[in-house]
This record gives sequence, C-alpha cells and structure tokens, in this order.
Amino acid sequence: MLTIGAHMSIAGGIAKTAENVVAMEANTMQIFSRNPRGSNYRNYGQEEVDAFQDIRYRYGFGPLLAHAPYTMNLASGNEKTYEFACMVIREDIARMDALGIENLVFHPGSHTGIGVEAGIGNIISGLNQAVTETQNITVLLETMSGKGTEIGVTFEELKKIRDGVCFPEKVGVCLDTCHVFAAGYDIVHDLDGVLEEFDRVLGLPLLRAVHLNDSMMPFGSRKDRHAAIGAGEIGMDALLRILTHPALKDLPFYLETPFDEEGHAKEIAMLRKELSNRSG
Ligand code: FE
Ligand code: FE
Ligand code: ZN
Repeated sequence: MLTIGAHMSIAGGIAKTAENVVAMEANTMQIFSRNPRGSNYRNYGQEEVDAFQDIRYRYGFGPLLAHAPYTMNLASGNEKTYEFACMVIREDIARMDALGIENLVFHPGSHTGIGVEAGIGNIISGLNQAVTETQNITVLLETMSGKGTEIGVTFEELKKIRDGVCFPEKVGVCLDTCHVFAAGYDIVHDLDGVLEEFDRVLGLPLLRAVHLNDSMMPFGSRKDRHAAIGAGEIGMDALLRILTHPALKDLPFYLETPFDEEGHAKEIAMLRKELSNRSG
C-alpha cells in the first residue's frame, strides 16, 4: 500500500494535525520539529499526545517525519550559529523521539566559506553530541539542490557525513526529488541509473523517505523552487515512475508542494487516480 502524506502545519496542535491527515485521506505526515524560522517550540500535554497516538495507530499511519528548522546550520563556521544548531538538533532528536516520530530530517547545512571538508567536520561533531545509541528515531540527511554553499548535494558528501558519526545505524537519507533533479541527478530520463548510483555510494537500505516535489527550476540549475505535482520540470510521468519504482514504492512519500492541506489532499487524490489508471 502507498504511504503518502504532506508537510502539515501543527498550529492547531499535533492531535488536530493527525485528524487532518485522516481527513485528507493521507496515511503519514511531515511536521516541523519547532518553528522553522525561529527557535520556539510548544510542549504538548499528555492528553494531546495520547489523542495523537490513538489516531496514528488506529488509522495505521506509516512512518512519521519531523523536519528540523531552516535556521539550524550544523555546517556553519560561525560559533554562535553552530552552537545554536548543535542545541537544536540535540533537543529535537530527543523531543521527536519521545513523541514516537520515526524519522527526523535536516538540511546538512551550508559551509558559508569554510569549505566542504570543514563543514562536513562540523556536521559530524554536531551529530555526535546529539545522536545516542538508545534513541529509536533515525536522523535523515536531506539531499540538497546545491544553492550557495550547501552541503549534501552529492551522494558522496552524505556518505562522508554518515561514515563520520559514532552511531551510523541511526543516520539515513531522505531523497527530495526537486533537490536531486536541480543538483543534476537525472531522475526523469535515468531513474534506474540514479538509484544504482545511490546504491553504489550509500546503499539503498539507507534511503528511508522521499520528498515528492516537482521542480520549477530546470535540471542541474542548483536552484530550489518546488512546483506542484506535474506542473514543473520533472513532470507527472517521472513522478509516477518514482512512486512505483520497486526500490522506492514501499517508502513513505511526503509532498512539499506549494499548497495548503486542501491542495495537498487534491494532489494525493490525483496521484492515486493516475496510479490506478495506469495499472488498470
Ligand atoms: Fe527540507
Ligand atoms: Fe525537502
Ligand atoms: Zn526544497
């Protein structure tokens, strides 16, 4: 069965968000682990957490994904920025693990001038202060488009990060279709080739989640602009091939297209319809 959902707002609380997932006929969700542009977060009361757990188990949600804030840059050479990032990743791994969220994804970061090697070193040290042997949650490195001085644009960079951490079994990868396309991995004309490359460099078992987005920007542009499903440079056919590829079809898919919940519900319904049309 297809596991699909979207990035959801938690403004109404986490139990309400889970209700909205059910209402949009999705079976998973991505939420921010805290305010994406600041540093605030809300602690949920026990009653709300219980209601949330009840809904996700009753409706058989697939693995849930939390997304770390954009203000968290673990690759930074600036001491204040770096210490903030180390604190956020440490706290949010613990907070999201306590909520029973299966995966926490983060943007590896931008080195902003100190170089890729030094940036990767910072990411590894930050993760080593945060990832524990006993946590259940897996930390996912997101594949990035390569804008500015972003790290995580190649599978090799992600591999270096994972290989450097003390508990690599707690670290996986989230593939963002818009980002890898913009980074120059041709998932439109050579999906098999890209997945073979992923398998050769990282190993396919490390792939734990897919951000399913179309791209406004062309192939290899290194620009990160998400488009609605079928309305971008990747296109509906290629996105359907991703959803149904034997190496991917059992993974959870999360839409991060420029819509609210109503728009995401329509996209999910459209994808299901396209899938059944083509299989029937
Ligand atoms: Fe992201
Ligand atoms: Fe993404
Ligand atoms: Zn993006």
